[in-house]
Amino acid sequence: MTAPEKIPSDLVADWNTLHRVFIRPEDEKSRQTLVKYMEQILFGLHDFLNTHVGVTEAIPLATLAESYTDTRINKDPEKKLADVIKDIINEIAPKAVNVASPYFIGHMTSAIPFFMVHLKAIAAALNQNLIKLETSKVLSVLEKQVLAKMHRMIFDKPPTFYDTHVQNVDTSLGLFTNGGTTANITALWVARNLCLPPTEHFLGVEKDGMAAALKAHDLDRLVVLVSERGHFSLKKAGGILGIGNRNIIAVEVDENHQVDMAKLTRLVEKFSQDKKTQIVAIVGIAGATETGSIDPLPRMAALCKKHRIHFHVDAAWGGPVLLSEKFSSLLTGIQAADSVTIDCHKQFYMPMSAGMVYFKDPKVLDQIAYHAGYVNRKGSVDLGIKTLEGSREASSLILDSALKIMGSRGYGLMIDHGIETTRLFAQKIRDRALFQLVTDPVLNILTYRAVPAHLRQYLDAHLPQSRRQHLDACLDEINTHLQRIQREAGKSFVSRTCLKIRPGDSHTAVVLRSVIMNPYTTGETLDQILDEQEAILQTIEISDQGFYTP
Ligand SMILES: *Cc1c(COP(=O)(O)O)cnc(C)c1O
Repeated sequence: MTAPEKIPSDLVADWNTLHRVFIRPEDEKSRQTLVKYMEQILFGLHDFLNTHVGVTEAIPLATLAESYTDTRINKDPEKKLADVIKDIINEIAPKAVNVASPYFIGHMTSAIPFFMVHLKAIAAALNQNLIKLETSKVLSVLEKQVLAKMHRMIFDKPPTFYDTHVQNVDTSLGLFTNGGTTANITALWVARNLCLPPTEHFLGVEKDGMAAALKAHDLDRLVVLVSERGHFSLKKAGGILGIGNRNIIAVEVDENHQVDMAKLTRLVEKFSQDKKTQIVAIVGIAGATETGSIDPLPRMAALCKKHRIHFHVDAAWGGPVLLSEKFSSLLTGIQAADSVTIDCHKQFYMPMSAGMVYFKDPKVLDQIAYHAGYVNRKGSVDLGIKTLEGSREASSLILDSALKIMGSRGYGLMIDHGIETTRLFAQKIRDRALFQLVTDPVLNILTYRAVPAHLRQYLDAHLPQSRRQHLDACLDEINTHLQRIQREAGKSFVSRTCLKIRPGDSHTAVVLRSVIMNPYTTGETLDQILDEQEAILQTIEISDQGFYTP
């Protein structure tokens, strides 16, 4: 390959510059900078993050925002690659969030194994598009194999089932998505179409739309039932699918934050008698976003079977627990689902963004099949036929490779560490007088809150309503402050959410939420985080401390 040797010193957009930018680093300096930083990122990810990224720098967002107000696009290049990389490393990275820190235990985004960055880079370099065979070839059949592996992990059908379907061009065991949100939307999309099938003068809801569907089936309303712990992506699905997000009905939970089966059963019976209302699906949660709780899946499955309702399990978070030899039984019942969501960028420890959805019946995705003249022709293996997304990267290659590198047991060990460390954290919280454990962990998520010593005695006391409200408000304020001060200090991070502490409580309390998935988060880390919180509590002024003292 011949390329111009002379390197212009000025930054201009012309074919010469473009040629250099397109095919390789512009010059030797760019190349060296790229190699230096890529080496750090590819081989010393942890060192790199420790040197360049704090949990978060103490710069207020408003100040940052002031530096990002230039809305013009430059006509000519502003910078050379080497300078752009240096800027990212020096200016952007330190102001990003070090989600890889063991002290970052607030969200479902965390450290990833270093090799994930290599795999992601390879996927980017190959730049395959899984929408069609013509832009992915072997990746399409590889993807079908990974989908079958995951389907088997969930549903464990007989080997002949997988022999039949693994490379069958007419059936689909599941699909890759951008994340749990699109996975949930896809599952409810299929469920909606299944419950509004064609009739004599109606071609089905996908073709004729919702107004015609309701008329053809003599219905007023569609509903989806899920516990109040359900992820808000289900509401988006309600909006997009014409169900209406108010018809994604939040069923109350019991003291374990599992759906209250008595209430769910009553609702199902009520709607079954009401001929004008159709239940599209019941959603069971395997690892609720806020509390990590798992719904009673076998009982929900039995209820769905009895009333012939689509049973979707949202295992966006909890799905990979199936790979744990110790804890997989927590998900018993998931194999009775009709569809299951699992995220890749959560407990499969993959980089952003990838999710998956699986269907027990390999024909059911025909409900959402779309064809076009130039791609996705009938009878082709094109994986874009039955996906909400159009063009799509080879996330399946990353998952397949990671499964080879880790083995199911490797993943299982990381899952076990998270669950066991979270149980240890729960014990530490119980042992400290200044804290109250709010949700006992089932998986690796728990919630708790700070309760200063002088308020503790009132927690279970019978107080007049106004004093109870005042106590609640006081505790909310303390915990909101505590979380904010710790976050802004930038050493560690727990998140915050709002929960009814006991079923039937009228007050939704502010609680601290912790998600432990970083294999380097240990008991010692957790003690340090609690110590820091206790120190912060000492400094928080409680507005009317005298109120509760006798
Ligand atoms: C994270 C999550 C989702 C949404 O997934 P995204 O990948 O963020 O779109 C859905 N359900 C549950 C239970 C989740 O934890």
